[in-house]
Amino acid sequence: MTTRLYDEDQYLKTFTTMVTKIDGKHVELDKTAFYAESGGQSGDSGTLNGEKVIYTKYIDDFHIHIMEQVPKFRVGDLVQGVIDWDRRYSIMKLHSASHIMEYFLWKNFGYMERTGSSVDEKKDRADYLHDGRLDAEKLKKTEDDTNSFLVLGHEISISTDDKGIRTWRCGPVEMHCAGTHVNNTREIGEIKLKRKNPGKGVERVETSLK
Ligand SMILES: [Zn+2]
Repeated sequence: MTTRLYDEDQYLKTFTTMVTKIDGKHVELDKTAFYAESGGQSGDSGTLNGEKVIYTKYIDDFHIHIMEQVPKFRVGDLVQGVIDWDRRYSIMKLHSASHIMEYFLWKNFGYMERTGSSVDEKKDRADYLHDGRLDAEKLKKTEDDTNSFLVLGHEISISTDDKGIRTWRCGPVEMHCAGTHVNNTREIGEIKLKRKNPGKGVERVETSLK
């Protein structure tokens, strides 16, 4: 089992750890700050001893760092990991923003079931069951409500219960989430929203940073 350092410190950018397994370009570490794709959040990229990690994801429950090349280091070596922070920080901002956006979305439209979501460094995409187009005025109001909330500098906290379930809280918003987040909404700045229609009876809300 790889220890996930980001569960304790979401802002950790560099770390030193031991290599526990290498299978071609797939590397496992004793501990890691590289977020592995899960819960819709994109996996991290970065470097291990200066060698490029192109993505991180779970394969058969193992926390796998996918290298660009077969690595020069060996099992048992200590390596320095550096995550691509600009990319991850954008993901953290967008992930936090999307939870708050959804709170105001439901306030403005009423509850709509979310059928899927994903976030990378460019945007958060959230799909909701909805007949017809999302009303443009209500969507604009959702954007304005979200931005008015973000600028107030609300704290974001995450707590973990005995079963390891993580609860995300910010002001009146609360949900289960295992992703990485900013500590304060002020870090996010402003967002903008866009709607798309990915299929019949489903509307997508895309959140991006302004
Ligand atoms: Zn989340």
